[in-house]
Amino acid sequence: MRSEFGNKKIIPAELELECLTALSFYPELKNTDIEFRFGYLNFTMISKPKFKSILKDRDQREYVIIVQKPGLSKNNLEWKELTFNALVGWIGHELGHIDHYLHKSSGGIIFIGTKYAIPGFRRKIERFTDQLAIQHDLGYALYEGVDYTLNYSCATEHYKNSQNKYYLGLDEIIDRIHSKEQWLAIFRKTKMRYQPATDFEEDQGRF
Ligand SMILES: [Zn+2]
Repeated sequence: MRSEFGNKKIIPAELELECLTALSFYPELKNTDIEFRFGYLNFTMISKPKFKSILKDRDQREYVIIVQKPGLSKNNLEWKELTFNALVGWIGHELGHIDHYLHKSSGGIIFIGTKYAIPGFRRKIERFTDQLAIQHDLGYALYEGVDYTLNYSCATEHYKNSQNKYYLGLDEIIDRIHSKEQWLAIFRKTKMRYQPATDFEEDQGRF
């Protein structure tokens, strides 16, 4: 797996299997420079382009995914509590952000960065990114992490409220897993379009 999905990646040994597994669901990122590292964060993990590479061509850009240093969570939720599947789902969400950036110009990335502080925009970005993870077949893994956070973990109320406010809910995740073929990502608009099955197909099912 390391030779297939580890090209141009820097991954700490503690998370290697989880990261490589998540990467295996994003073959389009095989040749993208991504460094995973631990850091001091208010979140469990974040992803962003490396500052020095923002203005470079899309295929020259380098990205970093920072994972909170173990034992320092301010939200009472440590990534080490998560199951293997849940962790793969969360890393898959971060890879969704990078997949999104790959479709953006340098100006587009700066635009996202500056508008992210606006709650409505943040909600749009995060739900779009959850949808990308579902589209990459990581829906159940994502579900497992969200279910644990909301229903079983000791995460702070503030953290749980942010989860509900900005991300897809459990029912929405299940719904979208089941109608995955009908959702289309429009990267240019950071939007998902739902295309209901045609009448013709419905008729076929009935006969
Ligand atoms: Zn995110």
